[in-house]
Amino acid sequence: MRSPLKDTMSTTPSSPLSPSPASTPEAAPRKRRPPRRVQVTRVQTLSPLMRRITLQGAELEGFEVNDPACYMKLIFPEPGQTEPERPLPDGPRPKSMRTYTPLAVRAGVHEVDVDFVLHGDGPASTWAAQAQPGQVLFLMGPGPGYKVQLDAPSHFLIGDDSALPAFETILASLPAGAQAKVLVEVVDAAEERALQSPAKVTAQWVARGTDNTQAGQALEAALRQAGAPAADARIYLACEAAAMRRIRQLLIEELGVDRSRIVGRGYWKLGTVNHPDHDYGED
Ligand SMILES: Cc1cc2nc3c(=O)[nH]c(=O)nc-3n(C[C@H](O)[C@H](O)[C@H](O)COP(=O)(O)OP(=O)(O)OC[C@H]3O[C@@H](n4cnc5c(N)ncnc54)[C@H](O)[C@@H]3O)c2cc1C
Repeated sequence: MRSPLKDTMSTTPSSPLSPSPASTPEAAPRKRRPPRRVQVTRVQTLSPLMRRITLQGAELEGFEVNDPACYMKLIFPEPGQTEPERPLPDGPRPKSMRTYTPLAVRAGVHEVDVDFVLHGDGPASTWAAQAQPGQVLFLMGPGPGYKVQLDAPSHFLIGDDSALPAFETILASLPAGAQAKVLVEVVDAAEERALQSPAKVTAQWVARGTDNTQAGQALEAALRQAGAPAADARIYLACEAAAMRRIRQLLIEELGVDRSRIVGRGYWKLGTVNHPDHDYGED
């Protein structure tokens, strides 16, 4: 049986950088999205490990986000560069390119906000920790997001700090009258913040601590303790890739959730650089 939720997500391992495979010899390859040069205009500290960075540039003209939890690629400078090189249409894949969620897009003023987790070493996290107005990145995308089932009475968002921006875009898209439960794993209580939505939101924050090898364990424990989610809930699950797989199995095998109600995304992978943007955990 085809999953109604799966149908709303791209299951093709695509990226805004790569043309999708042509299905027939005549089919034109998908047009690559142009790299857009953007400049930092504002840096805000949301919590000790989360920074909101506003990127702005005339090249954001036409950058549109239609679904929540969609993604874009950001290209960071290599050591010794003051700004990254503009990627060429047929050039090599930029080394320091990472996946982020466009949080708020203000088309009129060519701005996009991005929330960065400061997790430690990595070109994106390291750059975000030192970001200052005037610095330049390139941005590509957006790639596909989550088609929220707007008539679903209840939604359950399960994930870690890297998925908080995606959760915020999903929560913003929900109608008043919907119920949303959010279960988020962060390093500690200093990372908790208010979540806005027209829907009625219940948030539960759990602490991972600073040992990333424990990723997902606090989420699993909280889920086991809470028992089966609402039978009508649509679930978006996004966190460390191995944890996402374990939690998906826990939901399906122990808590009796129909797999068609779960959309899973591995947002990062322990010990892996630049985890791909299309890990749905259905292997
Ligand atoms: C669709 C999608 C949307 C995303 N949106 C966001 C977003 O809006 N904000 C955001 O902060 N992240 C987001 N991520 C996650 C982000 O792409 C990864 O965390 C990415 O690996 C960060 O790149 P880096 O250069 O800092 O680290 P990398 O060079 O990729 O990795 C270096 C090391 O850091 C570890 N690591 C990477 N990320 C984390 C983390 N979050 N916590 C702990 N350890 C980590 C890796 O395991 C590796 O050992 C998203 C991912 C996807 C797939």
